[in-house]
Amino acid sequence: MDDRDAEPSPEALKLVPRFQGQGYGDGHVASRRAWLSELTGVPLDAIGRSAIPAEEMRGNVENPIGTVQMPLGVAGPLWIRGQAACGVFYVPLATTEGALVRSYERGMVAISRSGGAVTRTHADENQISPTFEFADLARAEEFRNFVEANRENIRSEAESTTRHGKLVGLDVRVTGRLAQLTFRFSTGDAHGMNMISKAADRACQWIMQAGAARRYEIFSGLSSEKRPSAAAMRGTKGKNVSAEAMIPAQRVRQFFRCDPSDFVRLWRNTVVGNLGAGALGYCAQYANGITALFIACGQDVANVANAAVGTTIFDTTEDGGLYASVTLPSLTVATVGGGVDLGTSRECLAMLGCRGAGKARKLGEIAAATVLAGELSMAAAIAAGELVKAHNQYGRNRPKPDPQDAASP
Ligand code: NAP
Repeated sequence: MDDRDAEPSPEALKLVPRFQGQGYGDGHVASRRAWLSELTGVPLDAIGRSAIPAEEMRGNVENPIGTVQMPLGVAGPLWIRGQAACGVFYVPLATTEGALVRSYERGMVAISRSGGAVTRTHADENQISPTFEFADLARAEEFRNFVEANRENIRSEAESTTRHGKLVGLDVRVTGRLAQLTFRFSTGDAHGMNMISKAADRACQWIMQAGAARRYEIFSGLSSEKRPSAAAMRGTKGKNVSAEAMIPAQRVRQFFRCDPSDFVRLWRNTVVGNLGAGALGYCAQYANGITALFIACGQDVANVANAAVGTTIFDTTEDGGLYASVTLPSLTVATVGGGVDLGTSRECLAMLGCRGAGKARKLGEIAAATVLAGELSMAAAIAAGELVKAHNQYGRNRPKPDPQDAASP
């Protein structure tokens, strides 16, 4: 397998075995895995010990061979006083980064012992922006009028493909002889990318039949699915959510071993580094909490790219305590569709009271409050000079001998 010089023969370029019905039967999965095991010389027993019946993977993965396993920890208590999320939560976090769960836990306990986190969902929609090509700039500009005059037709075509997707806005952006038409949808409790790409495609076909453009591509890149961008900072994907906490000075010292002024100093002193990096927004580690929660709860993990941008604020309160907030403008979370019903995801969502219809905003607010806990704890670890010590205590793993190597003579 590992040969840098030799060009593989056609016979060596073996295709993964196909089976009737796409091969989701237990026997198909086992024989695909056995084929791969023989090909690579690697026993794939751990991959084969799957808690998800193969048939349930249909629609989520092709050529299934089993599942991967991740350590799952729990952090809490997290008291949230939000709009959709109200109560005390214990948050499942799947990660391989030692110290992460302990760090989020510390932030959550500090928040919960200081009156809880307040959360608000500012906006909730998903966008898709097909691009239309015209003969020239003038025709592209005329497209604005066409869209304005045909709003209702475009809406009814788009909404004809979905029960839950509702068109909440249409925006035209002209760039030379191209025009991007942004469809803004409310997607209920689903992430909605399958839902809205199907809906937008139907509307685009109607636009083409009306003779309004030469051609279209369903994605233009403008709405920034699975990409960090200035557009994601503006809020093009999922929920735009904030979480905030005010922590009295003595609680800051008790939980974080530093003063509110240390947070403010750190916040000020790291602006320059973030500007130097060309960072989108300003935060410490949104991706850590978001990724761990997404894996635990069956979210599409690639959406971390758009979901983990945002802005953290540390300041002091009027009585000398710490003010902290996080804002995530493009947080894509779902409690229906995608991978939310697969195996352990179902249980993780259920333990947050976030399974099924009517729960997606709640999950978004829990995610934001979780992120806030992580920002507080990481900032404190840096400000108090404890970050390296914490990782040394909880997060070091030296290479372990492979049990197979030990077994071989
Ligand atoms: P989906 O699993 O394809 O569809 C979920 C469906 O559930 C909705 O379309 C909706 O049907 C139905 N539904 C039932 N109850 C609902 C409720 N309370 N709220 C909302 N919908 C409800 O999921 P999706 O969210 O549309 O798409 C997410 C998946 O798309 C992810 O797995 C992601 O990986 C993938 N993805 C797709 C693309 C793409 O280009 N297609 C791009 C990136 C990611 P109705 O529509 O009939 O209402």
